[in-house]
Amino acid sequence: MLSSEQAVRYRRNLLLPGFGEEGQKKLLDSGVLLVGAGGLGSPAALYLAAAGVGRIGILDGDRVDLSNLQRQVIHGTPDIGREKALSARESLISINPQLVVEAHSALLTKDNARELIAGYDIVLDCTDNFDARYIINEACLSLNRPFVYGGVLSYIGQTLVVMPGRGPCFRCLYRNKPDRDAPDCSIVGVLGTVPGVIGTLQACEAIKYLAGIGDLLVGRLLMYDALTATFTEVALKRDPRCPSCGNDRG
Ligand SMILES: [Zn+2]
Repeated sequence: MLSSEQAVRYRRNLLLPGFGEEGQKKLLDSGVLLVGAGGLGSPAALYLAAAGVGRIGILDGDRVDLSNLQRQVIHGTPDIGREKALSARESLISINPQLVVEAHSALLTKDNARELIAGYDIVLDCTDNFDARYIINEACLSLNRPFVYGGVLSYIGQTLVVMPGRGPCFRCLYRNKPDRDAPDCSIVGVLGTVPGVIGTLQACEAIKYLAGIGDLLVGRLLMYDALTATFTEVALKRDPRCPSCGNDRG
């Protein structure tokens, strides 16, 4: 049973067809790990907390910098210099004090990934580099955990749900790391609303998965171009020769 406070707080969720009290209870009983509390992780975390995901883990080893505030809306000017995981935790608790918010002020590595991810139902890849994405991909495949990839650059962004055993993985999409000279946001910039859109979509896919509603972005790469204000969907298939999820692995 939801408490009377919860019945009011989540009323707009409870009214939704197919969601209702059952969907809300599923969210309250779930755990989501956000890897990264930056441009993507900020909006994603805010919406997951507001929606009532009962346990939210935030993994980030960085501290808040003045140049982050243009897009990392979970942090404020007084947070400059603080650990991002702790700053983000404070914002989420302020939105929804009933939640358990676990701050992990650390970098994701091959050594800690499995142990961290195993404690949650789904992972949001809100990182900004290929090394971390490959680590998330391998750990989630081996633990049979879904994750929602998000990536942004300049005026464009994209997102994909990786569901082990059901669709392509991140390495089916990017077999190898791009050249070391590939552009990143610190060189070519990024419009702050682009990670806002993509991070919000990532949170939406996680909520749908946890509540058991709708069609997920499995095998469908959704791309967003802010300048033309267009969304494009590309169908992706699992690559049987993928080194991570292919038939010959291991
Ligand atoms: Zn694959």
